[in-house]
Amino acid sequence: MSFATHLKSLALVATCLILSAQTDAQEMTYSLAIHGGAGTITRDRMTPELEAAYREKLTEALRAGQTILAKGGAALDAVSAAITVMEDSPLFNAGKGAVFTNEGRNELDAAIMDGATLNAGAVTGVTRIRNPILLARAVMDKSPHVMLAQEGAEEFAREQGFELVNPLYFWTERRFKSLLAVQAEDSHALYLDHDETHKYGTVGAVALDAHGNLAAGTSTGGLTNKMWGRIGDSPIIGAGTYASNRSCAVSGTGTGEYYIRLTLAREVCALMEYTGAGVQQAADTMIHERLTGLGGDGGIIVVDKDGNIAMSFNTEGMYRGRVTSAAPEPVTAIYKDE
Ligand code: ASP
Repeated sequence: MSFATHLKSLALVATCLILSAQTDAQEMTYSLAIHGGAGTITRDRMTPELEAAYREKLTEALRAGQTILAKGGAALDAVSAAITVMEDSPLFNAGKGAVFTNEGRNELDAAIMDGATLNAGAVTGVTRIRNPILLARAVMDKSPHVMLAQEGAEEFAREQGFELVNPLYFWTERRFKSLLAVQAEDSHALYLDHDETHKYGTVGAVALDAHGNLAAGTSTGGLTNKMWGRIGDSPIIGAGTYASNRSCAVSGTGTGEYYIRLTLAREVCALMEYTGAGVQQAADTMIHERLTGLGGDGGIIVVDKDGNIAMSFNTEGMYRGRVTSAAPEPVTAIYKDE
């Protein structure tokens, strides 16, 4: 082979490599949606500073997930990363900002589900785990079970090398004041709107990755003033969290008792799978017809297997955000009219 021919073939190989890298980059199609809870969130109850803080934290969570998805990472990892950011913020009713039970404790629930395998992991009633979503993930990946509760879940956490935090880590003055205010009114009242002026909520994320895999995750402190051992919808697979590559991934926020009775998250996917409903139609049917019909309140975020995103809620607002490979600038929203 002459030197010139050799150079030519080298140039050809280099061009092929560049082209294939570009194609790979183009193929990183992904969708990510998150929520930070639904409730009576209206402009007149919000200060500009607080609104900015929420939007900033939602954007940070979206960026955390997007960084993983844009590199071809797994939907499961993106969901965990986005939720961890929100769990570490006192703004949301999950992790650090968890609400108080009737007995003045913070009991946290979380679940994660892999749409590719239908593997799932959940923890409930944990009091010493800083990021319950990561423990839920460990239950899925490292135990033969789907759900572990209370001391058992914490024993498993210890075995897995998780740091157990002092339960006082979850004590925040604002949340404690909310509990006292609720109890002063009615010792058995349950509140989704956890604070009269600042509406906090459960957090969740749903994602489709470049490999076509869906995942969903949800993390919460539950309802303010919840009774002993009360478990909500968030850690229950099919109620507040569900993912299947055949249809969609769903994470919910709202009064969990209704979501459990409606198996709401699974039902959204079932509507898509068995009736051919589109993602927005399936979400709206479950929220505006079924949930509203039963007297429940809340919302959901959904991503389908083609990456379409739907967000539906019957409350005044829902903290939420989205980012996709087609629209890579994170978008956040809070109020109904956004
Ligand atoms: N769904 C949660 C529960 O019932 C509460 C929330 O969404 O804020 O535990």
